Amino acid sequence: MTVTALENSLIQAVLKFANLRHIKHTKQVEDLFGNHPWVGPYFKVIPLEDVEAYRNDQQRLREWLEGIAHNRKKVVSEVASLLKTKVDTAIIFNEDKQQIEFVYALSGVEACCSFVAALLLDKKRGLTKRLGLCDLKIEGKECGRFRFTAKGKPYKYCSASHSKEADKIKARRRVKLWRVYRQ
Ligand SMILES: [Zn+2]
Repeated sequence: MTVTALENSLIQAVLKFANLRHIKHTKQVEDLFGNHPWVGPYFKVIPLEDVEAYRNDQQRLREWLEGIAHNRKKVVSEVASLLKTKVDTAIIFNEDKQQIEFVYALSGVEACCSFVAALLLDKKRGLTKRLGLCDLKIEGKECGRFRFTAKGKPYKYCSASHSKEADKIKARRRVKLWRVYRQ
């Protein structure tokens, strides 16, 4: 398996953050990550009204994910430098298992986002193609939701209904083209 269950659940939380349409308060974002085992007791929470900070984080995250989905390498150095400053690791002695373990200590929203972006870029894991970006146009505007498929065939569209809608549009386009060629 290229992605572990813990990695996958963190990826899903980060994509939920990227897909939030409107961030109303900071807790809404922090709650997405709060229960993850890699998010330690030192997870940084910010005042409820400082929502602008997370809106900025979300925008940068969306730019990264769009870059990754389009297979552009320009996000690599930005992700690398943020990962270096935001993500801590620790060595612990697991008393139940009686063994040394290397653990991640994700201390805030930025740490979670840069860690997930790095996971998606990691060549050895090969997850880049598993990130889908829904480009279905609704009233002239792209849906823009991200989706990560851990197993099986990767999904491009955000949901079954958008996938169906996209198929319908393609079929209509084919009929139109066929009519043009026939003339
Ligand atoms: Zn969609």
